[in-house]
Amino acid sequence: MTLFDELVAVTDPERVTDRPFDLHLHSADAGLRTGEATVVVFAETTEEVCDVVRLAARHGVPLVARGAGTGLAAGAVPTEGGIVLTLTRMNTISDIDPVNRTAWVGPGVINLDLSRATAPFDLHFAPDPSSQQACTIGGNIANNSGGPHCLSEGSTVNHILAIEMVMADGEVVILGGAAPDPIGLDLRGVVVGSEGTLGIVIRALVKLTPDPPEVRTMLCAFPTVEGAAAAVSGIIAAGVVPAALEMMDQGMLVAVENWLHAGFPTESAAALIAEVHCAPEAADAEVDVIREVAEQEGATEVRVARDEAERALIWKGRKSAFGAIAQTAPNYYLHDTVVPRTRLVETISEMYRIADDADLTMMNVFHAGDGNLHPLIAFDATEPGMADKVHAAADEMVAACVARGGVLSGEHGIGAEKRDLMGTVFTELDLDAQARLKHVFDPDRVLNPRKILPAGSRCFDYGGSPLPEGTWI
Ligand SMILES: Cc1cc2nc3c(=O)[nH]c(=O)nc-3n(C[C@H](O)[C@H](O)[C@H](O)COP(=O)(O)OP(=O)(O)OC[C@H]3O[C@@H](n4cnc5c(N)ncnc54)[C@H](O)[C@@H]3O)c2cc1C
Repeated sequence: MTLFDELVAVTDPERVTDRPFDLHLHSADAGLRTGEATVVVFAETTEEVCDVVRLAARHGVPLVARGAGTGLAAGAVPTEGGIVLTLTRMNTISDIDPVNRTAWVGPGVINLDLSRATAPFDLHFAPDPSSQQACTIGGNIANNSGGPHCLSEGSTVNHILAIEMVMADGEVVILGGAAPDPIGLDLRGVVVGSEGTLGIVIRALVKLTPDPPEVRTMLCAFPTVEGAAAAVSGIIAAGVVPAALEMMDQGMLVAVENWLHAGFPTESAAALIAEVHCAPEAADAEVDVIREVAEQEGATEVRVARDEAERALIWKGRKSAFGAIAQTAPNYYLHDTVVPRTRLVETISEMYRIADDADLTMMNVFHAGDGNLHPLIAFDATEPGMADKVHAAADEMVAACVARGGVLSGEHGIGAEKRDLMGTVFTELDLDAQARLKHVFDPDRVLNPRKILPAGSRCFDYGGSPLPEGTWI
């Protein structure tokens, strides 16, 4: 039997495909890189996932887990070919426990659907990526995703209590548990952010967060980007940690306004969206602190949303920002780097300098409170040499962030996109330790090979001898 026939035998002929159109669809994510899937399987049960993993191992074929494919770092791209295992049909939410504020969730549940399902209990899933209408909990766990409201609540890792996972040998394990601090090594923490390289997540026990009693959403307009960036540090230094603190520059404000008419201040160089979640008695005081700091940094307008409709429109504008770029250019490269908040001002200036020198159109919309930058380069990929120019500028931007004490990614992950930059932030020993961990989980390198760790990461093959050139983990 061929691999295809064996996959059909353990699942269903309707859910295994090698039709060119399906392979094409599953050979890319929302980023720029593409791969070549050999076959795509849509799993519906734990047993099917176990069987598919075992078949991949037996045939020595790479296996790439996939959620909604909204990733931007090529994590779900089958760069080495092989099986793309799509988990979107495993989308059951069960055991919603409003007292303990937890629920068991399938990997294919869409992020926003989880919060919709728990809304009757006045609870929600706090990590809210801007892609939350499409991305899945499995993808969120694998990428340790963040979102505008992760500033005060923390990213996905802070909201996952336990993970049920299929290991590379097809065995099922549960890592973590309902207890807030389970004993033993925190393997749950190891798996969150591992981008499908250590196992396939088939269920997770998620923490649910109470809806805030009072919400105030503010839009502050600034005549300079530097003023807006300085206000970000200033607000937090003044003792207020807003639930969200997002920044958009003029290019982005104009693009969104032309599309959605959200009332954004298009005359301004930048705007901050600040949202406070607090007790009703504290709301006015927190708003006043933010207003005061914003005005000190030169804000020309500080608006507080008057009602839920105005608040929703502000967030719709922010979360639809990437869609608005289609008016500017057919393609975009959305970057993801981090710098310490206190170095935002100089780093942002450097981002503009790099884009200007390369004659590229760049806009910014990002989670400013976390120092998590998202420079977005809009371009036309059909222009000869353009993609190379964009990638070169993007690499220069990462280097500028690393030089200022930053890291490679705040939330989109490393995937294939930044794999070869890992050596700029990790020593050989660091990479070796990570490669050994991968080896423990996946000794035959079946699960999402050639992601996260660059070639040669495993510098000593346990006996102490270096691995041959080009060896990958
Ligand atoms: C417009 C836009 C806005 C975005 N905004 C944000 C944002 O605000 N914050 C943010 O963090 N990200 C953001 N992203 C990136 C992306 O949406 C997130 O990384 C998201 O979590 C990916 O989920 P997905 O279901 O699409 O996963 P995919 O793209 O399908 O996969 C992502 C990674 O997860 C692995 N994976 C998927 N499911 C499983 C599983 N069950 N078990 C093991 N591994 C698995 C894949 O192998 C891959 O490595 C944005 C993307 C877009 C296009």
